[in-house]
Amino acid sequence: MSGRIFILAAPSGAGKSSLVAALLADDPQLKLSVSFTTRKPRTGEVDGVAYNFTTVTDFLERRARGEFLENAKVHDNYYATSRTWIAQVLSEGRDIVLEIDWQGAEQVRAAFPAVHSIFVMPPSLDELERRLRGRDTDSPEAIATRLANARIEMEKASRFDYTVVNDQFDHALVELKRIIAQCRAA
Ligand code: 5GP
Repeated sequence: MSGRIFILAAPSGAGKSSLVAALLADDPQLKLSVSFTTRKPRTGEVDGVAYNFTTVTDFLERRARGEFLENAKVHDNYYATSRTWIAQVLSEGRDIVLEIDWQGAEQVRAAFPAVHSIFVMPPSLDELERRLRGRDTDSPEAIATRLANARIEMEKASRFDYTVVNDQFDHALVELKRIIAQCRAA
């Protein structure tokens, strides 16, 4: 039996990555897709684990060869999902989490209409700004870009099947697990 695809999208700083890490720790059936990106690694990010970090030239060559299921430019960097990895994991009957932006979500929906899409909302834009500044990994310019993009991203939330507000981590995690269980049972 083929596996399912769950898209998790959120503006950066909404706490999506921590939620995904907690989901995966508890659910051996779920596999996280490691995206390709031309963004520079942040402190602590390991190549092949956080992302497959690559150059713009390599990225564009791979894209031209049709290696990506979806791709998008987000915050001035390119991001993409590997087509072959997705096909392989689905054929093993395992479920996949894609941590991608709304542009990528549109492309994956077009390719896999049965995809389940979940949007993780921060409690507010003020709280998002506080979290982005607090994590201290991006320059003030990068934070400003991310906040501007967050507004655009949040306008797309209604196109997703589910919305989870991450005001309290534990509540949001329970809600995510409930949605995944419901999709699996359907
Ligand atoms: P960050 O640079 O903070 O890790 O991610 C920035 C944004 O890029 C986030 O909104 C994230 O969901 C998105 N992103 C990460 N990987 C992919 C991908 O493979 N495809 C698309 N379309 N977006 C991605």
